[in-house]
Amino acid sequence: MPTNHPSSEPQADFFHRLKWIMFFRILFTTLLLGSTIILQFIKNPSPLATPLLFLYGLIVGIFLLSFVYALMLRSGMRKILFAYLQVGIDTLIVTLIIFVTGGFSSIFSFLYLVVIIYTSMLLFRKGSMITAALCSMEYGTMISLEYYRILSPFGMEETFASATNGGSHFLYKALITTMACFAVAFLSSLLAEQAQRTKKALQAMEDHVKRVEKMAAVGEMGAGLAHEIKNPLASLAGCIQLLKEDIPYNPEHEKLMEIILREADRLNSLVSNFLLFARPPAAKIQPIHLSKALSETVELFEKNGSFSGKILIKKDFAFGIWVAMDPVHLHQIFWNLLINAAEATEGSGLIDFKIYPIKNKRVGIRITDSGCGMSRDILHSIFDPFFTTKPNGTGLGLSIVHRILESYGSRLDVDSEVNKGTTVAMEFKRIDPPTIQTH
Ligand code: ADP
Ligand code: MG
Repeated sequence: MPTNHPSSEPQADFFHRLKWIMFFRILFTTLLLGSTIILQFIKNPSPLATPLLFLYGLIVGIFLLSFVYALMLRSGMRKILFAYLQVGIDTLIVTLIIFVTGGFSSIFSFLYLVVIIYTSMLLFRKGSMITAALCSMEYGTMISLEYYRILSPFGMEETFASATNGGSHFLYKALITTMACFAVAFLSSLLAEQAQRTKKALQAMEDHVKRVEKMAAVGEMGAGLAHEIKNPLASLAGCIQLLKEDIPYNPEHEKLMEIILREADRLNSLVSNFLLFARPPAAKIQPIHLSKALSETVELFEKNGSFSGKILIKKDFAFGIWVAMDPVHLHQIFWNLLINAAEATEGSGLIDFKIYPIKNKRVGIRITDSGCGMSRDILHSIFDPFFTTKPNGTGLGLSIVHRILESYGSRLDVDSEVNKGTTVAMEFKRIDPPTIQTH
């Protein structure tokens, strides 16, 4: 299990928790020790009885310590070291409290667990285990000293002197306390780490949502702008076309006008692609016979000027499979994927195109090329809009594919190896063929 070290979280958060723990220490001291003093006072009306004096001293001591901590908080001391120091001193204080309130028979041994729990919130697995070990050692030492009568807790002489508790009793209690300390350390650090992980995941999600919102806003603006570019561009291309036809032939001018027209065409397709990505038109869903529709796409592709004759597409289509989709979307997806596959094989090679039924009424579609493949780094970015490794690429093809597939609850699985080739695959839900079936 990965352990989250506190240094990996923002310092401010750690600092904040440290301050809260300091505050609770003071509150706890006041309430717990205050009520104990009152109880002791009722039992033993002399305000100067030794255990009482000791408790007063402890309270004052803890207040003083908290004051020192507050001063140290502002110093440059490393916060983790500081937290360890505080926790270490706390275990000593708890041992003292237990000692003052009866040692072996004190009801305050649970305080060790409180210290361990808040340590796990600050210092996670490692810190809480160290604290559990410290607590066990301190407790063991204290009750051993008590057992061998080297030390005797206040106000307990008479009960202890009767020696009703044999050695096995002591050992048993020390063992149980040790086990409880480690069990609590384990469980509470588990919880603290889980909480930490959840918090990190939430933070990541929040960042993602913010990014998506920002992207959406920028995309919307871009889409507006792209839309505005389309009209003037069309007039520009139209005017040049007219000029070309009207003015007397001049090879030099002809070449320049060709360039203008070609570039205008490129710009137009870029803008159209961007609009497709940023503001996809509403889907007109209808039943589609997959193998028929994709055969048409392949046929069109094979006739496409830039690749005709150079690329061999091997179709392995299962027939009679229907899906509910917008045919334009289907065409866009496979047009883009085929272009990528063809470009990867540098215009000559074999592309394997497969449609196959899979269980749960789904259908798989796979395109495999024997092209250049992609490195891991490239693979990471291929769905980012405008990411391209091609000199004349737009980097919009896969972004559009991704966006369309997302709207059908599907996604593109890409598997690639450099210099070996790439396989892209996706799944769709099958539907029953409509009543009038065509092949
Ligand atoms: P474009 O094709 O305009 O570059 P895409 O979004 O279609 O934009 O693809 C992004 C990048 O993904 C490409 O530039 C290329 O590096 C990589 N890529 C996509 N498909 C393949 C493939 N079949 N083989 C190798 N690389 C690919
Ligand atoms: Mg492409």
